[in-house]
Amino acid sequence: GIPRVFNLKLFPYFQEHKLLIVKDIHELYNLAQIRRDFIANASHELRTPLTVLNGYIEVMMDGQEPDSMWVKPLEQMHNQSERMQSIINDLLTLSAMESETLVGKEKTVPIAPILKKMEQDATQMSQGKHSFRFELDESLALKGYEEPLKSVLMNLISNAIRYTPEGGQITVRWYEDAKGPHFQVDDTGIGISQEHISRLTERFYRVDTARSRDTGGTGLGLAIVKHILERHDAKLVIKSQLGKGSSFRCDFPRSKAVH
Ligand code: ADP
Repeated sequence: GIPRVFNLKLFPYFQEHKLLIVKDIHELYNLAQIRRDFIANASHELRTPLTVLNGYIEVMMDGQEPDSMWVKPLEQMHNQSERMQSIINDLLTLSAMESETLVGKEKTVPIAPILKKMEQDATQMSQGKHSFRFELDESLALKGYEEPLKSVLMNLISNAIRYTPEGGQITVRWYEDAKGPHFQVDDTGIGISQEHISRLTERFYRVDTARSRDTGGTGLGLAIVKHILERHDAKLVIKSQLGKGSSFRCDFPRSKAVH
């Protein structure tokens, strides 16, 4: 049978009398499951036809004379189909992160060495337009899932690059304080106004759709980050000032630190 899900609330209204509210959220739970399955299946089904289309586009591109009128349109078709592929991949990642079944074993993930390697990718991505500072506690590692954690790090770093104009500074920090381990990315970029901040982790939510598209965004990055962090009992704290820059900090519980 389907497990029934109850939302229990106990209100200590009076000293002796307690009020117990039992609400059946079983229907709601099923609906969420159906939505998740639908997105996962649709994304999966779209992947194959898209791969075929993309393959033929590439074949056609190879077969063009350099002055052919089809060079430009084919290039654009290729770009768009690659965009669609990244959206589908992100949707698949997101539903994998949501599904309760996909939990393997947590391992010790060496965050500092991973970030050192990412520094090279970041420099390449930035094409010399930004200056980077990496402050890493090399004696600190994290208990968790390596590949998902890598995508958290890369998503936040690449956002800092994409939303920071030329000449900006990007600071990446991996450290521990009394509260636990933190991964933090600060930039001196375009910033985000207060009313948008709480909505950034919603799927497809963007402050500026055009800019996000131009820089290769799918609008799913921070939704993925949030889900992965939830899997690690961690929180994303966003602070930002319009025109000044942003700070994205991941707060992990103390129990996840490995020394
Ligand atoms: P996208 O692919 O659109 O970048 P994300 O989920 O990664 O999707 O981010 C959602 C939105 O949050 C972005 O469209 C952008 O408006 C805003 N954003 C994310 N990171 C930054 C940042 N470092 N500085 C300014 N805005 C940001």
